[in-house]
Amino acid sequence: RRVTPKQVQAALDGEINPFNEQPYSTRYKRMLETRKKLPVYAQMTEFYDMASNSLQEFARNQVMIVVGETGSGKTTQIPQLVCYSDLPHKKGKIVACTQPRRVATTSVAQRVADEMDLTLGEEVGYSIRFEDMTEPAKTFLKYMTDGTLLREATNDPDLSRYSTIILDEAHERTLATDILMGLLKGVAKRRPDLRLVVTSATLDASKFQQYFSIDVHSPTPLLLIHGRTHPVEIFYTREPEPDYVEAAIRTVLMIHRAEDEGDILLFLTGQEEIEETCRKIDIEADDLLKQDPDAVGPLVCIPLYSSLHPAQQERIFDPPPPRRNPGGPAGRKVIISTNIAETSLTIDGIVYVVDPGFSKQGVYNPRIRVESLLVSPISKASACQRAGRAGRTKPGKCFRLYTERDFMKELEDQTPPEILTSNLANTVLTLVKIGIRDLVRFDYLDTPAPETLMRALEVLNYLSALDDEGNLTVLGGIMAEFPLDPQLAKTLIVSPDSKCSKEILTIASMLSVPNVWLRPKGGRKEADHARALLSIPDSDHLTLLNVYNSWMQNSKDPYWSQSRYVSQRSLLEAEKTRRRLESLMIRFGVDLVSVGEGPTLYQRVREALVCGFFMQVARKEGRAYVTIKDHQQVSLYPSCGLYHRPEWVLFNEFILTTRPYIRTVTAVNPVWLLKDAANYYDIDNWKDCEATRSLIRARNQVLGRSSSRLPPRRPMDRTEV
Ligand code: ADP
Ligand code: MG
Repeated sequence: RRVTPKQVQAALDGEINPFNEQPYSTRYKRMLETRKKLPVYAQMTEFYDMASNSLQEFARNQVMIVVGETGSGKTTQIPQLVCYSDLPHKKGKIVACTQPRRVATTSVAQRVADEMDLTLGEEVGYSIRFEDMTEPAKTFLKYMTDGTLLREATNDPDLSRYSTIILDEAHERTLATDILMGLLKGVAKRRPDLRLVVTSATLDASKFQQYFSIDVHSPTPLLLIHGRTHPVEIFYTREPEPDYVEAAIRTVLMIHRAEDEGDILLFLTGQEEIEETCRKIDIEADDLLKQDPDAVGPLVCIPLYSSLHPAQQERIFDPPPPRRNPGGPAGRKVIISTNIAETSLTIDGIVYVVDPGFSKQGVYNPRIRVESLLVSPISKASACQRAGRAGRTKPGKCFRLYTERDFMKELEDQTPPEILTSNLANTVLTLVKIGIRDLVRFDYLDTPAPETLMRALEVLNYLSALDDEGNLTVLGGIMAEFPLDPQLAKTLIVSPDSKCSKEILTIASMLSVPNVWLRPKGGRKEADHARALLSIPDSDHLTLLNVYNSWMQNSKDPYWSQSRYVSQRSLLEAEKTRRRLESLMIRFGVDLVSVGEGPTLYQRVREALVCGFFMQVARKEGRAYVTIKDHQQVSLYPSCGLYHRPEWVLFNEFILTTRPYIRTVTAVNPVWLLKDAANYYDIDNWKDCEATRSLIRARNQVLGRSSSRLPPRRPMDRTEV
């Protein structure tokens, strides 16, 4: 039984909402008129024909690919169209649509709930890490991050709750989407009732098409959405710009002064840079206004980045500020965004794009286990996407802050997929948990480097998540259930042994939310002073614990946070995250224990961290620190609170900016390393160096005192849980 486009049309235009049997609101009707103008809407018939053909016997393919310009309605409309044909609400099924980014997931879910005249969190929901806005008995359309769906697959490898899965924004080639493509290809074979839609914004979809085609005679159907785009004129700089932020500010103000009505989209690389630039542009625009109130209109700067609060994110859809007086110059909205606005979120009204040519990209070196985000030049494909954002509503202009020669000669054609530039430890753990045994021959769209896979297996083995044969241990099985990096998951799960799991739970939550430290311009000294008062000298981790506990003791008072220069929002988020992790701990029998405040507590916490982070250890050598085994020279991050520079430290994060840093650091006793991670600290077989000798000295001291071998720690298998 097929649903015809005519029937869908009638349902959309009707008076009663078929999904809840309620009369449609006037807002619904207003939004429907807007939706009808989207390019996807014009190709509804084609979409349904292709979707149903793909289920007929002659085409054994259950997959369909949809390609269309950003803003053509793929993300908001296709899942709704699928609901009309799947009728998931009648069958107790769910239509899922994955998104690479959290921001887009929540924002789009809200938008679609509104468009369908349904309630967010009921019929339409979303699910992102640490936050589930769905109602199991009611939700039939679910937007979710690709990572969340991947984690669901660990418990239900057939993803049997879903009738259709839409892998949206596949062109972004995130690690999770890439892995899902491989998994779902297999699931589709086992589940003939499952349908897959893969959507992409770039025209180079032939790679996806080939990947999903069963054979040359039945290629995967591909629907090309004909977007209505307007020409975009491109300008380059004559000389390379020494400071792209400064050049960007100049360009935005130049547009504001000299160009016709229309909003501006500026691409920058991260939160701090964006906030700072917003402030600077605001000041300069005010100055312009004071100089000549009749020459320029009002201007508002709106930041957009992933850790932004949802209510603030919605501001990007606000109309530009109104003219100050009738007949005066028009107001302008300037959106300053990370890559999110490149394809994930479409903002109407953009006429000018300013593209400095950089974004933060992941780099991973498996040899020295260095993973970091680095500000790097974008690809040609990215640059074209960015320029395209200017031509949504009328002809636009794109100002590239680099030379045409650099564009032609220096930029790569495509941004490499994440699977080639990331640490795969987490992914490998997920795959093993799902039951994928042969990681080398898994059906990857792009196969990762064997060295990266080996490294991931090795790390998981050292963490006792996999045994020597590569089988999942009980501990590994539980680790895979926690939406944390394997190191942190392991630390949390074994922390009851150290009688401090309540504290580690808090620390894990604080590490999972955006930076809590505020350092506003003009208040840096005060902020640093406030921070020093909250610091625990031996450990940035304990400092985080202290901040959280102090905040709690002050009844989560926002004035307390403000006067201490810590982010109330991050703390509230940490509290939410803590609750989610706590319920996982209860579910998997990880006890919540604490020895309580006292002199031993802090030491226990520091030692417990060693159980997960023993591979992320550095030793002081001269003025710098050097990482163990990999011998990388690193510095303590400027905000680190360990002023006395202890000899041995473990770190949460390695970051590469102008030079390598370690961030969130705790002093450790080398004896703990030998005791709690004896497998890794097999120092008798290490090459002779200062660090090895220091560890041997530490061992001899302990042996000398107790004249016995180090007491072995309990085996990590924890078969009892
Ligand atoms: P695509 O996925 O093809 O890039 P989308 O479905 O995301 O396109 O966007 C379709 C249209 O919906 C765009 O014009 C976009 O501006 C609009 N839109 C999406 N979310 C919102 C929102 N929260 N508020 C207003 N308009 C929105
Ligand atoms: Mg989209």
